[in-house]
Amino acid sequence: MNDILPGAVARWQQIERTARELFALYGYREVRTPVVEPYALFARGVGEATDIVNKEMYVFEDKGEEKLALRPEGTAGTVRAYIEHGAHVDGPQKWFYIGPMFRRERPQKGRYRQFHQIGVESFGVAEPAMDVEQVAMLDDLFRRLGVVPALELNSVGDAVCRPAYLAELREYLARNAAGLCDDCRDRTGKNPLRVLDCKVEGCQPILASAPRLVDRLCEGCRGHFEAVEKGLDDLGVKYRLNPRLVRGLDYYVRTAFEFTSDALGSQSAVAGGGRYDGLVETLGGPPTPGIGFALGEERLALILEASGRPAPEDRPEVFFVTVDDAGRREALRRAAELRRAGIPCDLDARGGKAKAQFKQAERVGARYAVVLGQSEAESGQAKLKDMQSREEALLDLSGLAARLRPSPRG
Ligand code: AMP
Repeated sequence: MNDILPGAVARWQQIERTARELFALYGYREVRTPVVEPYALFARGVGEATDIVNKEMYVFEDKGEEKLALRPEGTAGTVRAYIEHGAHVDGPQKWFYIGPMFRRERPQKGRYRQFHQIGVESFGVAEPAMDVEQVAMLDDLFRRLGVVPALELNSVGDAVCRPAYLAELREYLARNAAGLCDDCRDRTGKNPLRVLDCKVEGCQPILASAPRLVDRLCEGCRGHFEAVEKGLDDLGVKYRLNPRLVRGLDYYVRTAFEFTSDALGSQSAVAGGGRYDGLVETLGGPPTPGIGFALGEERLALILEASGRPAPEDRPEVFFVTVDDAGRREALRRAAELRRAGIPCDLDARGGKAKAQFKQAERVGARYAVVLGQSEAESGQAKLKDMQSREEALLDLSGLAARLRPSPRG
């Protein structure tokens, strides 16, 4: 679990600001739910056979009440809230959330025990147009941030076609058990789809020739998948079909997708999602189709770092260097003026040597410094020093805000 210090937070704010602006353009509205939920919600919603629930969840007793858990993902809680507040009566809903999730995983680069997700959920629309819009929105988010992770797409079928496929897959895996790792052998019985996801080198030849669900989709799933592919083509969203892409959670049907990046090393997924048409009903709500994704903020920040794009900085436009008490009073007055005009500025409230104050101005990345003392306070004029070029210009202090305000056309 990490501290995210002020120097890194600018990057996070950039990601969250961009996501909020973009999601609003698509009609998604923010929901905030608790980080603690009943254990049973995840057991039912995510699935007891999943690693997330049975190995990684932080579970605790709350003094004789029902067992609770720190949320390992955001969908189950969002669906609970959707049901609890009867949100379905208002027609289809598009919601998003931003917040911490908790999984007791082995920490490594890009994998932490408290991490942060930006997730979206769309309720009430079963049509492939929603899948297309949502995947395109995520693609749009990456573009706005100037990165291009690769999109992989698959269909994981539904209750019509998946059971027969699972039986065939289990049979195939059991027949080839000798060539599989312990994890794969263990999962063959419990969660055979996850076997396809195994990254162990030795398992790859067997998994490469495993039966593919995309070749065995029922008519409904096939039509849905083709419409999603066509819709993404129409919007110019590039993707690669990956027949072995599965999602870690039980509730997914039909569309599954993931964005991955080489910049991340072994934990290459930056976002993943899919359709979960049965989940709302499973958790006690009315039958309601849904589709959503979650994006890892730590991993997106790592990709942005690796791309070399500078984080937007919170730097003061002006740093006031004060040489006496009169200068300090003047600086506080002028700083208040600038802040009212929306211009970030600062001063060293301790006063002290001008040299040390200039150093501080440099350290915080100020664009300009203004030296203020008794004579400047009296004349109302001071020198504006460009911290980069070192050029100085004399100006009226009353015109400072106007001078620094970016021009409307700029
Ligand atoms: P998932 O809910 O497992 O599909 O995860 C969705 C996204 O959350 C992943 O693509 C990652 O970007 C991120 N993520 C999942 N688990 C972790 C973790 N332990 N640490 C950091 N990011 C994670």
